[in-house]
Amino acid sequence: MSRFLQAEIDLSALSQNLSRIKSILKSAGSSCKIIAVVKADAYGHGAVQIARSLETHNVDFLGVAFFEEAVILREAGIKSRIIVFFDREVKELFKYGITPVIFDFKQAKKLSNEACKRGVTLPVHIKVETGMGRLGIYNDPCGTIKKIASLPCLEIEGIMSHLSQAEEPQWSRQQIKRFMELKACLNKSGINSFFHISNSAGLVYPEALFDAVRPGLMLYGYSSNIPETGLKPCMTVKTKLMDIRKLPKGTPISYGKTFITKRDSLIGVIPVGYADGYFRKLSNRAYVIVRGKKAPVVGTVCMDLTMLDLTDIADAKINDEVIILGYSGKERITAKDIAEWAETIPYEVLTSFGSRANRRYTGGKEDRL
Ligand SMILES: *Cc1c(COP(=O)(O)O)cnc(C)c1O
Repeated sequence: MSRFLQAEIDLSALSQNLSRIKSILKSAGSSCKIIAVVKADAYGHGAVQIARSLETHNVDFLGVAFFEEAVILREAGIKSRIIVFFDREVKELFKYGITPVIFDFKQAKKLSNEACKRGVTLPVHIKVETGMGRLGIYNDPCGTIKKIASLPCLEIEGIMSHLSQAEEPQWSRQQIKRFMELKACLNKSGINSFFHISNSAGLVYPEALFDAVRPGLMLYGYSSNIPETGLKPCMTVKTKLMDIRKLPKGTPISYGKTFITKRDSLIGVIPVGYADGYFRKLSNRAYVIVRGKKAPVVGTVCMDLTMLDLTDIADAKINDEVIILGYSGKERITAKDIAEWAETIPYEVLTSFGSRANRRYTGGKEDRL
């Protein structure tokens, strides 16, 4: 029998979050396209199922980090356009009908040669540096893109950049301004590709919407800077109590004796640890929910096990459900709470949890039948 660690993914929350994104665009008077970001296994939610669900809502593009992620989607029967953000793959992408992002001239040349050899025109997006300091053309982007435009067998479908601190208006406006200047320069030369710079947090800037947006986090129900009303977290993570022990006052709990019971205690054990993405940093900091009440994590989080103080939940029983991330009664624990306890960001919490949990999907079409 396998231990119980389940990530429940609510697909109706996904469609609600997508609607919220569409309504933000609409109220900004924008009809821009949506590139739904499903990299890192859809932030731990399962890329194939999330992509299938998004496909039923007609998003314009899916975005992934690496070519191999795009192949997994194609092999699962996903037909939508897929943009690969960070990869130098040249040959195989033709086979799968995948759209690459170019971040230097050399890569453009190779793709052009390969497309010509195959007698096709390849749509590509080009990434430019505006302040992220990661990938993208930084040296004379307008001139370089014009040079790329003169290569045969490529169609420059999109021009993109990325905000490095979208929560910070002043810096973001500077990035947006650089991007606008580039657009003006390219438009003058007759290059009228569609422009995109906004991730989820960029949606607060109407001037940053351009012709497409690339939301990731918001699809999964979180935002770093937009009121979360109307957003619903897609992921709930649950396990079960595998043991409850009555221990006297003064008993050390877990490695390093970082917690010593201050009273006669009920200590619960759950089969979840840092190998499941439950960060060690959560030791003596996090809470979970048992029988509708919050229970603190006590002692050091182990590789496969974590201990809880259940003394105030006297009716707790072995096999009771334990909510690590999610709602129960009036209590809730969000990826933001866990991120705060672990001194990280909700992105890392979501992508970490996806790894070892069994996923179960609810709220999909098959559910409603
Ligand atoms: C991850 C990523 C996004 C999505 O960012 P969110 O903050 O999750 O909305 C958009 N564009 C690129 C290039 C990315 O790598």
